[in-house]
Amino acid sequence: MRVEITSIADNVKIVRDAIAEAAAESGREPGDVTLVAASKTKPAEMVRQAIAAGVDAVGENRVQEFLEKREALKEYDPVWHMIGRLQTNKVRSIIDRVSMIQSADSVRLCEQISRCAGEKDVTAEVLAEVNIGGEESKAGVPPEGAERFIEEISRLPNLRVTGLMTVAPFTDDTELLRDMYKKMRKLFLDISSKNHDNVFMRHLSMGMTNDFKAAIEEGATMVRIGSGIFGGR
Ligand SMILES: *Cc1c(COP(=O)(O)O)cnc(C)c1O
Repeated sequence: MRVEITSIADNVKIVRDAIAEAAAESGREPGDVTLVAASKTKPAEMVRQAIAAGVDAVGENRVQEFLEKREALKEYDPVWHMIGRLQTNKVRSIIDRVSMIQSADSVRLCEQISRCAGEKDVTAEVLAEVNIGGEESKAGVPPEGAERFIEEISRLPNLRVTGLMTVAPFTDDTELLRDMYKKMRKLFLDISSKNHDNVFMRHLSMGMTNDFKAAIEEGATMVRIGSGIFGGR
């Protein structure tokens, strides 16, 4: 990829331009799509450059790594999202330090999120993670169980569901990917139309470096870009 020879600022610009193009394809404005820099394994200094280049949020996968980078980047105060699998015993250490947990995938985890949020007197914002490809190795609730899952967690007192997130299968079959993204969009609209109490379907987080344009064309409102900004891992 180009990323080894261009700067992070250049990469963010390239990604932003591609987002704008894809947004236009689906009749939307560039600003309708939130850009989350997925910074796992990348040092704080690189994350700082991405923040300076104007990414909307920074997404981390691991709690320890997140806490270290947050400390190192305190003065820049970016919006942090948790995007990786989260263990219940780690929730307490991040609950008032992230703006959003995109990887809510079990009732048990959400109960702990709500409990810890209550202790800190905050309302936790979560996305329901959906395993759209039905892969054994991927986190997320099955699509057919997503609405019931959301209904159940929406009753928790200190938690607010604001959308869906998915990590699609790794494949270059773009038609297959588009099909899955279409399914996600349909699920998003279906659940949205039910107007469940305490459910606010605002965010549809899907699309990574290799497929974010297709994801946006199919309705993503949030993309999570790692290697396209920071280079390969
Ligand atoms: C790593 C990661 C990304 C970004 O992946 P790239 O292919 O590097 O853009 C997005 N979402 C999640 C959950 C990730 O773990």
